[in-house]
Amino acid sequence: MGWYEFDENEVVSCKCGWSGPASAGGIEFFGECFSYECPECGRTLAVFSYPLIEETKRKAAEGNEKAQGELQAALGRESFMERAKASELERPDQLPDLDGDEIVIEWDFEDREKQGGDCWTVLRHNGREIWREVAYYEGGSRYHAVTTILIERYGTRLAGFPATEASRLYLYGDDWRSDPVGEVSGRIERNRKTGTE
Ligand SMILES: [Zn+2]
Repeated sequence: MGWYEFDENEVVSCKCGWSGPASAGGIEFFGECFSYECPECGRTLAVFSYPLIEETKRKAAEGNEKAQGELQAALGRESFMERAKASELERPDQLPDLDGDEIVIEWDFEDREKQGGDCWTVLRHNGREIWREVAYYEGGSRYHAVTTILIERYGTRLAGFPATEASRLYLYGDDWRSDPVGEVSGRIERNRKTGTE
């Protein structure tokens, strides 16, 4: 059954004997899917993959109320992704020439100025802004991707790419298992020594 055909208020029964609406239990979110769980025993009651924006649009147009309820959030997410993608640093030649053999660039963060606005990742060298792009929550993989471009641009002269205090809450998010700051500093250190990161 698809997400938009599923009624989470309809009564379902679990193997353990509990019955009630699926919405009475917890929802667990995973990378590729989410599921409803029995409030008594924790067994999985129903699993769904995240609807694609195209599906939400189509179902909403067909009159599905759940899809209509989610449409605005889905469109908001879609336009955010378009803005974020368009703002991304893509190539080393988009960055300025910098002097010195120990170049340190900061990964900084600017909060949204108004409700509904975007947060920004700002790259600074000696306090001067050299790039800005829309910030991703839990953007560890983006931080790594930008590191790769900085290494391409500045080579072994890149001595550090620290994340400022202001950026860390957004960078780490709820994902306390990964340590992008430590990983990136390790990559830069290896590159300084060997020029092969
Ligand atoms: Zn159960």
